[in-house]
Amino acid sequence: MTTLESGNKKAYLTVVDSALTPEGFEPNDKIKSIWAGVYKSFRNEFGEAVYRSWLKPMTLQAFYHNTMEVSVPTRFMKDWIQTNYAPRILEMCMAGSPDIKRLEVVVVQNAISEDLSSADTGKTTEKVKANANALAEEVELSSPLDPRFKFETFVIGKSNALAHAAACRVVESETMPFNPLFIYGGVGLGKTHLMHAIASELREKRPEQTVMYLSAEKFMFQFVKALRSQETMAFKELFRSVDVLMIDDVQFISGKESTQEEFFHTFNALVDMNKQIIISADRAPGDLQGIDERLRSRLSWGLVADIQPSTYELRLGILKAKRDMLGVNIPDPVLEFLALKVTSNIRELEGALNRIAAHADVTNEPVTLETTQNVLQDLLRSHDRRITIDEIQRRVAEHYNLKLTDMHSARRSRNVARPRQVAMYLAKQLTARSLPEIGRKFGGRDHTTVMHAVRKIEELCDEDPSFAQDVDVLRRALTG
Ligand code: ADP
Ligand code: MG
Repeated sequence: MTTLESGNKKAYLTVVDSALTPEGFEPNDKIKSIWAGVYKSFRNEFGEAVYRSWLKPMTLQAFYHNTMEVSVPTRFMKDWIQTNYAPRILEMCMAGSPDIKRLEVVVVQNAISEDLSSADTGKTTEKVKANANALAEEVELSSPLDPRFKFETFVIGKSNALAHAAACRVVESETMPFNPLFIYGGVGLGKTHLMHAIASELREKRPEQTVMYLSAEKFMFQFVKALRSQETMAFKELFRSVDVLMIDDVQFISGKESTQEEFFHTFNALVDMNKQIIISADRAPGDLQGIDERLRSRLSWGLVADIQPSTYELRLGILKAKRDMLGVNIPDPVLEFLALKVTSNIRELEGALNRIAAHADVTNEPVTLETTQNVLQDLLRSHDRRITIDEIQRRVAEHYNLKLTDMHSARRSRNVARPRQVAMYLAKQLTARSLPEIGRKFGGRDHTTVMHAVRKIEELCDEDPSFAQDVDVLRRALTG
């Protein structure tokens, strides 16, 4: 027990190990409003980051015998608060009412931290301090938001209307219309743009909430880092204090078991606590490979909204909007030409427009269809004969009478594995994708698996002319 002098009053600060909240001691409105005032004062005094990490996860439990009882989710937090902030918090409480003389911090465990409640016992103060400092730094682990990715700059078309509408609902609704919101679609079709738009808008509209946005890769990186330095608890607490958790490109979580497990727990805990979760991926929840079945099904509990490949109208609409934004003079026929030619994704479309604008700026020549064709020669040419991995997988599956999902699945039987190796081999031969990229497209396989497949198929082609011919038929079907 720590004795605390405050003015001429003596006050006591007690920290206990478990919840001892007596029945019938619910805090009255006055106490509640004093506690709300403490939130404000604390935030003013210590700043947003410290507030979010430490005070925000505290919950007012009870008031009895001149004692404010507040709970925190773990022992680690309790220790840290006791050493660093409790005396000040008590002073703030006492300023609200002379009836308050003690502050009791208790641990009320919950799903997200229970398995770690004992992991920190015996830690030295130094260790606790180091962890907490690391945590404080990590508070800003949210990825920065691109200021260009706003709702106002998002052009709506048939292909993305559903995802856009869902995003708007989440931002506008006071209650949670669906949880989680799962947005999926191919590369460069605007998933990240929508995610950033939601995050920016929420932060603006609800500044009191913590909106954490990060890529699945960053999530994993942070988690692995936390594991190494034995700070998993700090990691968990960080996520627990979040109101809205947004994870972009969740397909990258597949396969890494501990991260998946962690993500699943975080996910469940947050859903149980009624926190909004928004996920993006390059495919539907059911098609996520190498992801635990429980997680996969939980991901599709809320609303699943897809972004389809763009239509000509949408591409033209986007080009017109970007032209206005850039303030360049590009005639409509040029935009129409681009919308017709560059169909793979919006990112490439934007790239093409930027190049034309830059060229016009440097040469001071007016933009025409001819200059456009010249400037984009290489892009248009490569575009005409671009083969995608999806296409290869489709063709190969068809050829060997397999399901498309067999291309991503973990099944290893020869009749599935061999065609899959052929598809990997063709992907390496016919696209500019790197080995890791190809591996990802095949159910998150490792680049060494792809390398092995390429070698194996080369070998087989050398040994067996009929096999070589088979592969050649496929190659010609794809390139022809
Ligand atoms: P994804 O995350 O799906 O791979 P991005 O969100 O990064 O794709 O989008 C790629 C680029 O295309 C970004 O610059 C984005 O602003 C732009 N873009 C995509 N869809 C739209 C849209 N509907 N309106 C305006 N810009 C878009
Ligand atoms: Mg993206």
